[in-house]
Amino acid sequence: MAMKRSTCVMAVAAGAATVMAAVGGSVWSPVPVQAQGATQAPFVLPTGRGGAPLYDSAMDFSLTEACGGRSKTPMEACENDVRRMVAALPSTAPAKPLQPRRILVLGTSRGFQHSSIPLAAKMVEEMGKKTGAWTTDITYAASAINAETLSHYDAIFLSSTTGTFLDEPNPFGDPAVQAVTDARRKAFMDFVRSGKGVAGIHAATDSYHGFAAGAGRAGRAGGAPGQARQGGAPQGPPPVPPPCTSSQTQGAAAGGDPLWPDFNKMIGGYFKFHWLYPTPITVKIDDPSNPINAAFKGQSFNTIDEVYTFAWNSYSRDNVRVLTSIDYSQMSDCDKGLESNQRPDHDFALSYIKREGQGRVYVNVLGHHESIYYNNPAMLEHILAGIQYALGDLKADDTPVPLKK
Ligand SMILES: [Zn+2]
Repeated sequence: MAMKRSTCVMAVAAGAATVMAAVGGSVWSPVPVQAQGATQAPFVLPTGRGGAPLYDSAMDFSLTEACGGRSKTPMEACENDVRRMVAALPSTAPAKPLQPRRILVLGTSRGFQHSSIPLAAKMVEEMGKKTGAWTTDITYAASAINAETLSHYDAIFLSSTTGTFLDEPNPFGDPAVQAVTDARRKAFMDFVRSGKGVAGIHAATDSYHGFAAGAGRAGRAGGAPGQARQGGAPQGPPPVPPPCTSSQTQGAAAGGDPLWPDFNKMIGGYFKFHWLYPTPITVKIDDPSNPINAAFKGQSFNTIDEVYTFAWNSYSRDNVRVLTSIDYSQMSDCDKGLESNQRPDHDFALSYIKREGQGRVYVNVLGHHESIYYNNPAMLEHILAGIQYALGDLKADDTPVPLKK
């Protein structure tokens, strides 16, 4: 905790100029962004009390570097990865936008910071550019989540946000700081419930669970053992799956408690345990006729990633429409045996959609490793379609289909 607090103070003390520079350039442009329709009021990044920028964990460069440690720019994807991702992008979108669409990508994390965050953000940006389905702004500042800023967007894309990613750190329980957190949370939920969209990838579901606030262990701060095995893009042939092993801590993982029940419900589940990267899985197409799954043509396929499981009490097919899931029958007995606090239903959704109020939510649980963003063009088509569903442009049946007993 002492370490965490001191880095927080350092970041705040860095001052507005530093932060604005860090979020400027290709990442976030504080220049006025023209809204759709008649509204042309400019908006800029908000600041905190006294004009100081709000602390953001992404400004803490002691966190994991991007590109598996190959780069010192955690908010910029590796060129190699971007090139391969762009080459794999679909050229057309499945639906014509009903109106010009704008997406805000949020890459903030409060805990383990995935090196794939900037690549996922770039994927959204390039996908929109290539297909004309939307335009994109990228931010690594949780303070961008406020009612005024969000009024310029149609969807938020959560790029592996981890932990209590919207909250302002408040180790001393200052009510004014808590009010900042409360306002962000409200703006976020009001946004989606009013009819807008949320798309979340990978660690968006590793958010707001764990232990009570103040204990300093929100989310999986620091990441789970074995995370060190994650890296940048593979340089040669696909990695060899590891021997079937798990750590003691992982074996005891249970997911903890929901820390923001509204968010946990909205995102459809929270992390309990992951099979380490690179774990091979077979992806089953649960809803072959759903337009979001069109690219898969009903065919299951194999892939490799770090693979999440959800706490049994946080995820159920009663609440979400599952698009793809792990084909458990294809998993080795050894891997099956590693799962902590086993789900008796062996149901591990990999992507799904759901309603939240008047809004729509698309979640893709894969996306830990950079290769997920370029090794399978059908996966990118799936994500594109999922985002268009969240935007309200692609109609898809989102009625939950409960698991057959
Ligand atoms: Zn991960």
